[in-house]
Amino acid sequence: SLADSNVCKIVLLGCPGVGKTALTVRYMTKRFIGEYCPTLESIYKCYTTIDDEDVRLEILDTAGLEHDGWKDGYALWADCFIFVYSITDRYSFDEIINIKRQVEEVRRSTSVCGILVGNKSDLLHDRQVPANEASELADEIGCKFHEVSAADWTQFDDIKNMFHGLHRENRRQKFLR
Ligand code: GDP
Repeated sequence: SLADSNVCKIVLLGCPGVGKTALTVRYMTKRFIGEYCPTLESIYKCYTTIDDEDVRLEILDTAGLEHDGWKDGYALWADCFIFVYSITDRYSFDEIINIKRQVEEVRRSTSVCGILVGNKSDLLHDRQVPANEASELADEIGCKFHEVSAADWTQFDDIKNMFHGLHRENRRQKFLR
C-alpha cells in the first residue's frame, strides 16, 4: 500500500460549465469529452509515477454537486484543490474568491493547497478574463496559475503537469506540517 504522502486527494471546484469534467477526463483518458451525465458525482482513482515514486491521485469532479450539503464533506476530504473558471465567463472568475473562502471556512485554515486554472483558452475570441488579472488573483490567494484548454489535445502534457505539480506541492506542504 502507498504511504500517505503518495496519495493525493484532489477536488475540482468552480461554477457549472467551466470544464471541471473535461479537465478531469482529459487528464485521465487523454480524450476530450463533450457529453456526460452531469448529475453523477465521481471519484476517479489514477495510479501514476511522479518523480520516480508510485502515486495514487484521487480526483473528485464536483460537477452536478452544486447544491448545499456536499461542500463541507469534500472540502475536508481533499488534500488540495483546483479552482477552475472559464476565460469566457467573467462570473465564474469572480466567484473563485468566494469558493476559496468557503473552503477556508470549512477547513478553518487559510493555508489551502490549490491552483487557479483558467480553462477554455482555445476560445480567445470570447475572452472575458485577462490573464494578467487572473495572475494577480492567484498571487492574492496564494496559488499558482495556469491557463489551459481541455478541448485542445496538444495541451495534454500541460494538463498532466498541472495535476502532477499539485501533487508535488501537496507533498511539500505535508512534509512541512
Ligand atoms: P463542468 O460543469 O465544470 O464539469 O464543465 P464540463 O466539463 O461539463 O464542460 C462544460 C462545457 O464546456 C461542455 O460543453 C464542454 O464540452 C465545454 N468545454 C470544456 N472545456 C472546454 C475547453 O477547454 N474549450 C472549449 N471550447 N470547450 C470546453
